[in-house]
Amino acid sequence: MPNSVFQVPYPTNEPILSYSPGSSEKEAVLASYAKMFGETIEIAMRIGDQDTKTGDTASMHPPHDHKHILGVYHKASKKNITEAIAAALDAKKAWSQMPWESRASIFLKAAELVAGPYRSRINAATMLAQSKTIHQAEIDAACEYIDFLRFNVAFMQEIYENQPENDPGIWNRLSYRPLEGFVYAVSPFNFTAIAGNLCASAAMMGNTVVWKPSDHQVFSAHILMQIFREAGLPDGVINMVFGDPEMITDTVLESPDFAGIHYTGSTEVFRNIWGKIGKNIERYRSYPRIVGETGGKDFIVAHPSSHPKEVATGIIRGAFEFQGQKCSAASRVYLPQSIANEIIDFVKADLKTIKMGSPENFENFVTAVIHKGAFDRLANAIEQVKKDQNAEIIAGGNYDDSKGYFVEPTVVLTKDPKYTTMKKELFGPLVTIYIYPDAQWSETLELVDQTSEYALTGAVYSQDRYALEEALKALENSAGNFYINDKPTGAVVGQQPFGGARGSGTNDKAGSAANLMRWVSPRLIKETFVPANDYKYPFLG
Ligand code: NAD
Repeated sequence: MPNSVFQVPYPTNEPILSYSPGSSEKEAVLASYAKMFGETIEIAMRIGDQDTKTGDTASMHPPHDHKHILGVYHKASKKNITEAIAAALDAKKAWSQMPWESRASIFLKAAELVAGPYRSRINAATMLAQSKTIHQAEIDAACEYIDFLRFNVAFMQEIYENQPENDPGIWNRLSYRPLEGFVYAVSPFNFTAIAGNLCASAAMMGNTVVWKPSDHQVFSAHILMQIFREAGLPDGVINMVFGDPEMITDTVLESPDFAGIHYTGSTEVFRNIWGKIGKNIERYRSYPRIVGETGGKDFIVAHPSSHPKEVATGIIRGAFEFQGQKCSAASRVYLPQSIANEIIDFVKADLKTIKMGSPENFENFVTAVIHKGAFDRLANAIEQVKKDQNAEIIAGGNYDDSKGYFVEPTVVLTKDPKYTTMKKELFGPLVTIYIYPDAQWSETLELVDQTSEYALTGAVYSQDRYALEEALKALENSAGNFYINDKPTGAVVGQQPFGGARGSGTNDKAGSAANLMRWVSPRLIKETFVPANDYKYPFLG
């Protein structure tokens, strides 16, 4: 038994590698990419100690080259899901009793595996599966994931160290128990790091997990699973299943042992799951923890005092990196009349230099959107803008899915601040600009606050401190992550804990101790050293 209070290594953010021409990391990731592209793999689910294959398969394709087959993955039957739940419950006793520093060691080892031997593979898989440029893959699958693992281990220690006060003669202790039952993790396609974190954060706190990655991230999810296993994660702690999301979710939610959901994805799906949990509430042993980070309609609002080139750069990076498929991506922009044209000219000039194509070619800033559904959604939105009187396309507007799902970065200008693309999450490289009269700063802030059901991220550009102060107050509830003179994307673990409110989610701040607290149920232990032996208090005389 450990006879020490251990101190986990102090976490620092993983440095982002440059992948500049001639660098060894560039050579390594391109070699991994070519190898994975050339192979055809078969991905099994991982249930308990079994690689589970069902013969019911779906194929995987790079979004930028959708006729190419990367391999197949096996999809679950209802029986497989019941088995995954049983495997999680079986593994629970030993895992929850494992000393916390051993759990920490496993995830710290996983971080080192991502940072070293797996770095090029996890990045190449993310480039292939989710069509990320190497920079986007590096800041996600490598750096953000390493940060989640290292920082969460430190947050775990911080939580365990948080202990109550004591009166003389008694000792109060808090024990942070894992939840009773199992946790269900449901992850989106767009971040390999989020997928790995949703399951690992709950597991780190002593829970066992059934994890369902997105169909469009299976290729990189299976590398995460390899890393967990190589790091020494025992069988059954994280069970990875694929297939029909509704069937899997319904089966999970039928279990009385369902203890919580760690979800990231679209708002509608989350609301639907929440409703089902509510309907099933009588079944469960405990009230399930519901943690969900969902959609956004993230804004940039520029004050007349802002610097046009800085605002334009915020728009380009905020709206178009990873094809606007970040939940935090800027998709509605408010520009003051006096400098709007200058900003728009800078945006148009930048767009002329942006290349689109395969992530294998490092000159491309923009690659493909994730799948046909996303491509069609964006193509339809662009066609609708072309038809509408109150909006026009001022840059981009072309799309082509003959080889990959390519949608040009598109800028829409609207005269209607409540135009549909100012309100609805499209999740792609389309940003809408509304120009407001300079004198209407206060009214515009109210508009920003009232236009969308979401409240995830937002950015204000201003050199005028009074205007900034006004924006901070007026937009207090409009964004969970609020940026001053910066783009609204690119949250770094340990620096900008991430999450939004209103329709955007439960705001449990991934990458912070607050999130990990959701995966424990504290037990207070009060010990009295010399117990009372007379019931009479002095006031009784
Ligand atoms: P999605 O909603 O299509 O899928 C998310 C997950 O839910 C997937 O695993 C999917 O298989 C599952 N799912 C789909 N339908 C389901 C159903 N009926 N029942 C149960 N599960 C179901 O989302 P996506 O396209 O993978 O990701 C994009 C969305 O995620 C965007 O809305 C984006 O804003 C959001 N997102 C939010 C954050 C955040 O931190 N707020 C981060 C990343 C992504």
